[in-house]
Amino acid sequence: VAPRLLGPAEIRDLAQLLDVTPTKKLGQNFVHDANTVRRIVQTAGVERGETVLEIGPGLGSLTLGLLEAGASVIAVEIDRRLAEQLPHTVRLMQPGTELTVVHDDAMRVTELPGEPVRLVANLPYNVSVPVLLHLLEHFASLQSGIVMVQAEVGHRLAAEPGSKVYGAPSAKAAWYGRWRIAGQVSRMVFWPVPNVDSVLVGFERADVPGTEAERVATFALIDAAFQQRRKMLRQALSGVLGGSSGAASALLAQAEVDPETRGEQLTVTDFLRIARVAR
Ligand code: SAM
Repeated sequence: VAPRLLGPAEIRDLAQLLDVTPTKKLGQNFVHDANTVRRIVQTAGVERGETVLEIGPGLGSLTLGLLEAGASVIAVEIDRRLAEQLPHTVRLMQPGTELTVVHDDAMRVTELPGEPVRLVANLPYNVSVPVLLHLLEHFASLQSGIVMVQAEVGHRLAAEPGSKVYGAPSAKAAWYGRWRIAGQVSRMVFWPVPNVDSVLVGFERADVPGTEAERVATFALIDAAFQQRRKMLRQALSGVLGGSSGAASALLAQAEVDPETRGEQLTVTDFLRIARVAR
C-alpha cells in the first residue's frame, strides 16, 4: 500500500523536488515520523468532519495526519513554495480529502475561509507565542487546540503564578483559557534535528474575563511587571500607574493587590483588577 503519511524518504524526496533548504528564520523543522503525527492528532481529539486550523503545514506531515482523521483542514503557510506544493502532495497521497491552503503570515491573517473549531500545529518556534495570541484574539471559533512548541515555551504557557517560569506569556495566554502540557516530543523526529526539545501544549478556551480595551490595558501592565520582574510591583508599575511608587501603591491597594509583591505572583485577573482601578 502507498503511504498516507510522510516518512523520511518522502520528506527527502519532497525537499529535493522543491529545492528546499530548511531555514532557521522560519523555524523549518519537518516531522518525518508517522507515529508522532498520529499521536498529535489523537491527543488533539480531532473529530471526523470538523474544521481544523493548521499553522505552518510545511511539507504536509501533520496536514496528512489531520486529513487521515477526517478533518477539513485550513492550512496557513508563509513559504510560497511549500504553500503551492501542499495541494499536490495531498492530492497524491490522500485524494478526496478537504484542504484549503492560505499563503500568508499567521501573525497577520484576520480572515480565514471557514470557521475552525480547533488549532493543531507544529508552530515555528521563534514566533509561537505571538502567533498563538494573535489567533486566539482574532478567531473566536477556535475552542481548543494542541500545539507543538519548544519545551521551554510550552512550560511557560502552562505555568501557574508563583512558578519560576511564570511570565508574561503565561499571564497573557491565561486571558483566553486553560493551558496544560500534553506530552513530550523527541527532537529526533525532525529534519533537520533542532537543538531544543519540544512539548505538546493543549488549551481549552474559556470566556475572556474583560473587554477588548481592558485586555489591552491588562497586557500593558503584564509587560511592565515582567520587564522588571525582580522589582516589587509598586516600583515596576510606577511608570504606568501614576508616575511614582507612592501613586502606584495607592492604586494597587485599591485593587487589593499587595504593592510589595512581584508580578510573578499575580493571575491575569489580578492584573485586570489593577487595569480597572487605573482607568
Ligand atoms: N507542520 C510541519 C511539520 O510538522 O513537519 C512543519 C512545521 S515547521 C516547525 C514550521 C512551519 O511554519 C514551516 O513550514 C514554516 O515555513 C512555517 N512558518 C514560519 N513562520 C510562519 C508564519 N509567520 N506564518 C505561517 N507559517 C509560518
